[in-house]
Amino acid sequence: QNFIIAIDGFSSCGKSTVAKALAKKLHFVFVDSGAMYRAVTLYFLREGVDVTNAEAVHAALANIHIDFIPNMDKIQILLNEEDVSEEIRTMYVSEKVSEISTIKEVRQAMVAQQQKLGRRRNIVMDGRDIGTTVFPDADLKIFMTASPSVRAERRFAELAAKGEKVSMDDVKYNLAHRDHIDSTRQESPLRQAEDAFVLDNSDLTQDEQLSIVLQEYEK
Ligand code: C5P
Repeated sequence: QNFIIAIDGFSSCGKSTVAKALAKKLHFVFVDSGAMYRAVTLYFLREGVDVTNAEAVHAALANIHIDFIPNMDKIQILLNEEDVSEEIRTMYVSEKVSEISTIKEVRQAMVAQQQKLGRRRNIVMDGRDIGTTVFPDADLKIFMTASPSVRAERRFAELAAKGEKVSMDDVKYNLAHRDHIDSTRQESPLRQAEDAFVLDNSDLTQDEQLSIVLQEYEK
């Protein structure tokens, strides 16, 4: 029987960092579900898909193929065979991704793909609705939180390191805006699963977080 670890939480709480470290340690497959929504958003933006037109959305989704390719210490995200790993992290995509992620058809398509990825494999998947909707029976559920200022600083540093010119105010606004849309949407909103272990990492190093989560895993 395969083992599934679901990690959920608000934007920029450090979910992927913990998920990646955990997957590496346990030799599990890591899946960043947010990257999938980001890739879909990039496609919609590029193609100018009319999101109010259900048929157009449906047709676009049928044309989207997403792959994860492990490459050294990184995982490349391919959108129809093109490496979009960098482009999906830009503000251009961040500003639209939560809106696109409210679309029912988009969620249904992504959830189906995510469930398929978790079939017969040991995985660590991070996102917003993994422990509630994608894998309600996950073997271990973690809900991560961090103070808003810690989150904004982390995100700002990440973008600055990539040379993106954004202000701290823009970053704060984007995080708050996405959190609001993510937790108020109709289709599988961001919620803490009742049986999730809550990890507030505002004052924890990455090593500390990993060992806490490993303890939960071993329980
Ligand atoms: O995890 P990340 O911040 O890259 O996710 C980008 C956006 O994708 C989130 O703000 C959210 O709107 C959407 N998302 C989602 N469900 C998931 C993962 C991400 O709706 N499971």
